[in-house]
Amino acid sequence: SDSHFPVPISPSHVDYSLHYPQFCQSSDIVAGSKKIEFADIGCGFGGLLISLATLFPETLMIGMELRDKVTEYVKERIVALRKANPGEYQNVSVVRTNSMKYIPNYFEKGQLSKMFFLFPDPHFKEKNHRRRVISPHLLDEYAYVLRVGGIIYTITDVEELGDWMKSCLEGHCMFEAITEEEFEADPVVKLLSSATEEGQKVSRNGGQTFRACLKFGRQKKSD
Ligand code: SAM
Repeated sequence: SDSHFPVPISPSHVDYSLHYPQFCQSSDIVAGSKKIEFADIGCGFGGLLISLATLFPETLMIGMELRDKVTEYVKERIVALRKANPGEYQNVSVVRTNSMKYIPNYFEKGQLSKMFFLFPDPHFKEKNHRRRVISPHLLDEYAYVLRVGGIIYTITDVEELGDWMKSCLEGHCMFEAITEEEFEADPVVKLLSSATEEGQKVSRNGGQTFRACLKFGRQKKSD
């Protein structure tokens, strides 16, 4: 249960020295001007984070994962990568938590520039839709922690869930479509289907995927 893992009482209580010891020698972190910018929600075995870490070496990023053993695996993976590649992978970390409850404990308003929801659990039955990590209610929370222009990336191999995530995002008044040009130019987009363990499994099996990526922006006009 949730009582087995500690939860910071506010974002200023997140211990950066534990997650990013090398970066913590820099004055930006001490002064509080360098913060986590990317969050991989339900990161699983961490494949996306590992790819992002070297693509954005100066950006602090964190995976949030509910399963204890899986979180421990990702921690060990990061420790091993740091050892094998001195100076690299210092910007990536993972935490065991329930993202459906504790996002506001970790991030301030407007802190994040990217949030990832890759191959989330589908919760097929209608009575379980409230357990989905993308929902109208949770999007309010994600909108709070994202900065203007910040992007939510979602992908799934379950068509019904893909439609659900797309309609939640498109139906939310604070999220807007990203243009074709922005999409093409975004180096992260191609990682969505290839970088995670779940994505690799789907592509090995020749499965289709369904993406929805929207930007946190200005309130849509009601017309
Ligand atoms: N994103 C990874 C990938 O693409 O390989 C993992 C996908 S896996 C199907 C979904 C993951 O979300 C699982 O590892 C699960 O433990 C995690 N998860 C489910 N609910 C969660 C929650 N409330 N908070 C954090 N993680 C959660």
